[in-house]
Amino acid sequence: MTWHPWRQAFLMAGAPVVGFDPSTRTWVTDAAESQGMVGLPELKGRVLTDPGSLGQAADDFGHLIHRTPGAVLEPGAASDIMLMMAYCRRNGVQVAARGQGHATFGQGQVAGGLIIDMTPLDRVEVREDTAVVEAGALWSSVAKATLAQGLTPAVFTDYLELSVGGTLSVGGFGGQTHHHGAQVDSVVELEVVTGDAAMRRCSPELRPDLFHAVLAGRGQCAVITKATVRLLPAPATVRHYLLFYPSVAALTADQRLVVGDGRFAYVEGELGLPTDSTGWSHQLEAVAYFDGTTPPDDTRLLDGLSDQPGDRQIRDMSYFDFLNRIASGVTYLKSTGEWYRPHPWWNMFLPASRTDAFVEATIEDLTETTVGASGVVLLYPFPRARVRLPLLRLPDEETIFLFTLLRTASPGAENPQDMVEANRSLYLRARAVGGYQYPVGAIPTTPEEWQTHYGPAWTAFEAARERYDPDQILTPGQGIFPPEP
Ligand SMILES: Cc1cc2nc3c(=O)[nH]c(=O)nc-3n(C[C@H](O)[C@H](O)[C@H](O)COP(=O)(O)OP(=O)(O)OC[C@H]3O[C@@H](n4cnc5c(N)ncnc54)[C@H](O)[C@@H]3O)c2cc1C
Repeated sequence: MTWHPWRQAFLMAGAPVVGFDPSTRTWVTDAAESQGMVGLPELKGRVLTDPGSLGQAADDFGHLIHRTPGAVLEPGAASDIMLMMAYCRRNGVQVAARGQGHATFGQGQVAGGLIIDMTPLDRVEVREDTAVVEAGALWSSVAKATLAQGLTPAVFTDYLELSVGGTLSVGGFGGQTHHHGAQVDSVVELEVVTGDAAMRRCSPELRPDLFHAVLAGRGQCAVITKATVRLLPAPATVRHYLLFYPSVAALTADQRLVVGDGRFAYVEGELGLPTDSTGWSHQLEAVAYFDGTTPPDDTRLLDGLSDQPGDRQIRDMSYFDFLNRIASGVTYLKSTGEWYRPHPWWNMFLPASRTDAFVEATIEDLTETTVGASGVVLLYPFPRARVRLPLLRLPDEETIFLFTLLRTASPGAENPQDMVEANRSLYLRARAVGGYQYPVGAIPTTPEEWQTHYGPAWTAFEAARERYDPDQILTPGQGIFPPEP
């Protein structure tokens, strides 16, 4: 007998859930086996409890925290999310959305609850100067669809295989942030399912309280189902510059200069770990966009910079290859296994006036043992005024540096728990100089500390949570609001 591929996939995934039994708090696949089961609403998609689906949802890119959910929803449409939110609310089940699971500390996990796998909702529709994007879509798909129309979102994360809902829930920073803010700053409208199981649209004009509580809101008030993102004309080609400096101070001085006058379209920076024969390397990465025919004016772009001229690396590439530039590195890390190891990442925003001293003191203690063989240290600035959304908390200075230690617990490196503890100590030191956490890393943080973190934005955030998720069922893995007693 030959099986249709869909039927084979169905059998491998196990029987879908038919209901939840609140008395035993279990998801039921066979109604005959449960007395007290409450049947599921009629869905376009399905709810699964097979070990593969649960195992994947109990893990993330960090591989540090593992909480097994009770079930996973594969929505066939956004209306399924609304129906299941109402069902979970009635039955006291917690819920979290999962994009690509690239959180590093269990932020998207929920023990015993329902995980909504957003990947089936991945449509991208390009309009005149906006894209209407379902939240499960990857930024790589958004880039391809918009570039086909000669358009592009303004800001990209370094890695394109993250979901739109996932990065809009945290912010979304990249080398274009110094011109255009975070990805959340380019959103003009959202469609969401709130924790009270209503599907709502919101924008700066329509329900601004909800809009401002969802963007960078870490899934506390709603699941994003669709975002309308502003687009710009796309360049055909870019010129990519790697400039090298003798010290942190020399690097950050030039980064501030070029970010201040805006001469490049993109600016980031990386500190390369010492090798046997060299000390730390300090690299400025910058990009100028062009139409492929009239090259950028190198003399103007490099004027007044104090890098080591003999070390400059300059090359042209297509805009998409530039956006997708880390893909080959990711393939390599997958081939060596490094990609799949624990990732106790640390990400903080620092006030510019304290950055050099803080970074210099921090990297003194860093070695391949403390950040891992494939660990990456990033450092780049942007003007605070470009990032406008209230839940993105930043130091109170004109220029901010994003400083990240992307640690990998490689064989021979410190164990992951020691790295997490080191993250915590470094977090406290960064807080003491006015730093704020970019909440995508693995830093143990208490609800009281989150309240302090949100500062003046806390009251509105808490009010939105009470209004839109009155039963507090959404996204407990973020650890922001203390669990109900
Ligand atoms: C290799 C790599 C590179 C990265 N590069 C950058 C970078 O350059 N710039 C940057 O800013 N960040 C970067 N990040 C961090 C990344 O933006 C966040 O971790 C992001 O949340 C991951 O997206 P995801 O789709 O995997 O989300 P998930 O890990 O699936 O979810 C993250 C959180 O968002 C919630 N969530 C997910 N989807 C939704 C939704 N639709 N509605 C409501 N809540 C939702 C989840 O419940 C969870 O709490 C990087 C991460 C990795 C692993």
